[in-house]
Amino acid sequence: MIKENIERVRRRIGQACVKIKADPGKITIVCVTKGRTVIQIQEAASYGLKDIGENRVQEAMEKYKQFSGLTWHMIGHLQSNKVKEAVKIFDFIHSVDSISLVQAIDKQAARINKIQDVFLEVKTSPEAAKFGFSSQALNVACAEITKLRNIKIKGLMTIAPLVSNAEEARPYFAELRQLRDKLNPAWLLSMGMSDDFLAAIEEGADIIRLGRAIFEDNV
Ligand SMILES: *Cc1c(COP(=O)(O)O)cnc(C)c1O
Repeated sequence: MIKENIERVRRRIGQACVKIKADPGKITIVCVTKGRTVIQIQEAASYGLKDIGENRVQEAMEKYKQFSGLTWHMIGHLQSNKVKEAVKIFDFIHSVDSISLVQAIDKQAARINKIQDVFLEVKTSPEAAKFGFSSQALNVACAEITKLRNIKIKGLMTIAPLVSNAEEARPYFAELRQLRDKLNPAWLLSMGMSDDFLAAIEEGADIIRLGRAIFEDNV
């Protein structure tokens, strides 16, 4: 089932890319493995999904030990008391949602001589996410974060609200793209989940985060 799901996802990504004349090779699928077993992760990785997304540090640490050669993405809200461990294992932290958090990440990264790649989470809709910078707060946040020596901003991340029709998520993705274009056109966009990734790709997503579309039937 995982194999068929991945093939189906790739076909759909291909179709969305044809529509917007983009190279499907530029889209990274982060395989979201929260609540999934090590065996499921192995299977997904064997079909080429080497980017793994987890939303809890503890769960990620247990799984991380059992793999090599994968790229780990923190996608859930990060508590300050978990920063030290998170910086040790995650290649990317997508869920940077406050200045104090990113300062804590910088401090821990400096201790282990690491430049931590991060995405700034943006609250594009008030109802979708509890966490994230408002679009208005981003300018100031970026100026502050740019001063931190052990942080590299790779892009912006958002979670669209749960909607019955993926088309309704599109304006939130468009908003993230516009913010990115304004702040730094070189940044990547981490946006789109199982129910709305096609709309996200059409609005310029570079990284989509998929759980159910890979591991469950009939998504
Ligand atoms: C769980 C999760 C996903 C994946 O959601 P699916 O609907 O299973 O594709 C993506 N991003 C974040 C931040 C998540 O917590």
